[in-house]
Amino acid sequence: MQYRDFGRTGIKMSALGFGAMRLPHEEKDGVSRINTEESIRIIHRSFELGVNYIDTAFGYGESEIVVGKALRKWKKRIYLSTKVPVWNMEKRKEFRQKLEEQLGRLGVSSIDFYHLHGISYEIFENKVKKLKLHKEAMKAMDEGLIKHLSFSSHDKPSMIMKILEEGDFFSSMLCQYNLLDRANEDAMEAAYRKGIAVVVMGPVGGGRLTSSDLLVRGMKGNVRTTPELALRFVLSNPWVSVAISGMNTMEMVEENVRAASIRRPLTKAQLSSLEEFIRERKSKKEIPCTSCEYCMPCPRGVAIPQIFQLMNYATVYGLKELARSRYGKIASTDKVKREKADSCVECGACEKKCPQKIGIIRELRKCHKSLG
Ligand code: SF4
Ligand code: SF4
Repeated sequence: MQYRDFGRTGIKMSALGFGAMRLPHEEKDGVSRINTEESIRIIHRSFELGVNYIDTAFGYGESEIVVGKALRKWKKRIYLSTKVPVWNMEKRKEFRQKLEEQLGRLGVSSIDFYHLHGISYEIFENKVKKLKLHKEAMKAMDEGLIKHLSFSSHDKPSMIMKILEEGDFFSSMLCQYNLLDRANEDAMEAAYRKGIAVVVMGPVGGGRLTSSDLLVRGMKGNVRTTPELALRFVLSNPWVSVAISGMNTMEMVEENVRAASIRRPLTKAQLSSLEEFIRERKSKKEIPCTSCEYCMPCPRGVAIPQIFQLMNYATVYGLKELARSRYGKIASTDKVKREKADSCVECGACEKKCPQKIGIIRELRKCHKSLG
């Protein structure tokens, strides 16, 4: 395992972190629940192989309870990260109440990295700053209940930058970054330069990248598997301290530890050959949709940008099965109208609004033929 500086904390963290959001499940009395014994076995194997960072969240069902049990004999050697939902807090004291509840669920006296979960800049302004939740966190730090305050975010990179500019009290940030989604690169560099450790979630694209060996073929024998390529790609970025992978089998642990132990990053030549391979496929196959949503809403509820993204997964990255299965799940709910491409009545309203001048009607027809 390779270990990296973790921002300005002085900690050497394993490049691979254990993500406990997708622990193995079992069916009991018709209910699917986390398989505690198997989860602990897998978590312990990762610790034995050198992983020293584990990440859970209040919102991951029983994950905190299982992680707490797995940590019993390991707590002194492992850094524990969890997350608190703050978007629905109305009073400052709720922060303390939730923290105490989480300490109880985890069965620990202190949490190493306490993340404000999935904050947007708007939540940062209207909840964190307005309710002074960071002050409450500082108080908990003085009492030793948490060691560091962190945040995770899925907001736009420009908004993450604003959180970084105003959030001097954060020790680390958790954000999305992988071969399919490199939008956060500038924000990651900004965090690194401020001494805020960068932890990456979804290094294997939330599992999306595992179902294609197309990119590995593009690397011409320099990597063995797509998860290895995906993880090494993330760890080749000098701003990254830790890549968290949600692991639920022993094989995944062994394979990810092997990939995270390869010290030499992908070379510049390898990265540019990969970029060239993706660029070439994009130029030939990609629907140039930027997901700007100017074409929405469609009067028939056709989920235009989502459908085009899935089509691009299939054609550019070879993720056809995944794209077909996600396409099959597109459906309207009581609150949101979201329909497949065959609901299009060819009214043409969307095409007039598309800045990319995409022949939306024609492309939708092709998408349904290929994914439907
Ligand atoms: S052309 Fe089809 S997709 Fe576009 S707005 Fe009309 S119904 Fe919706
Ligand atoms: S307007 Fe064009 S580019 Fe924007 S989401 Fe719609 S199809 Fe994509």
